Amino acid sequence: MLRFEEIALGEYGSPRCRRCRSAGAETIRDDAAIIEDIHRAAGSWSGGPGPNLAFCGIEPFRHPQLAGILAAAVEVGAKRIRLDSDATALGALDASRLAIDAGVRHLQFDLRGSTASLHDPLAGGAEAFDGALRGVAEFGRVAEGSGTAIQISARIPVCPHNLQDLPGIVGTASKAGVSLIRLVIEEPKLNLRTAAPWIEAACDTGIVHATWVGVEGVPFCAADGWELHLASVYRPTAGEKAELCSACPLDAWCGGATFGAGRSIAALFRPPPEAQRLAACVNRGFSPPVVGAHG
Ligand code: SF4
Repeated sequence: MLRFEEIALGEYGSPRCRRCRSAGAETIRDDAAIIEDIHRAAGSWSGGPGPNLAFCGIEPFRHPQLAGILAAAVEVGAKRIRLDSDATALGALDASRLAIDAGVRHLQFDLRGSTASLHDPLAGGAEAFDGALRGVAEFGRVAEGSGTAIQISARIPVCPHNLQDLPGIVGTASKAGVSLIRLVIEEPKLNLRTAAPWIEAACDTGIVHATWVGVEGVPFCAADGWELHLASVYRPTAGEKAELCSACPLDAWCGGATFGAGRSIAALFRPPPEAQRLAACVNRGFSPPVVGAHG
């Protein structure tokens, strides 16, 4: 799985579920500091094929120096450039063509609901759902028209307000033409045992649609039978652990729970019965760094 170095264009602008918390004030980072980050990321790249850079943090099209930032990424030799965008801007005027001409080949957009009536209240805007799907379609259409190979992925932030809609959201994203879906536990207090069946159903929906679903923020012991979907199988992820985790054969690979998860969630963690066998399978994938924080 490709790894991207994420470079923030600003802070607190990323939309959160409006029913979980209110959005913070947005700050836009100075382009000189961003370009410095680009040079540092490219110069120290050691993550396999790359360097691959993803621009995130705020809606990229709101950064006034986006064109210069993308040019700097191309200049340092970035092999893949991704925009983490709500995608609505890509449906307007020549935005998709300009983005592709500037070197953007990867797009990741957030989807919180399977329909406008489910997505818009959580994303905080009327027309957010329709705008996103219009932008995604336009980005794909322009790329196809110019013979440019692109990749579109959907990020589905998981919280109590969209848990039961997860299979539907995966279905909607798949029909929109995405080739990869990331399910990310956004609300750290989410009870992972309660959430697990819905996440598993979402993974199954992805398989039906031939779209891979990767999950972040769930440990192996809460993913009984669908461990292969956990992001930590493919790349190191860090999260919160329990004291028992230090005795678990999966400790070195397991990403634990999202940082901020309370003790009541970590207290559920127990080495799964199949831990030894699973650890032997994961072991073939990569050498583990030290990850996780034991409570
Ligand atoms: S016991 Fe800890 S290390 Fe083992 S799978 Fe569960 S969370 Fe991961």
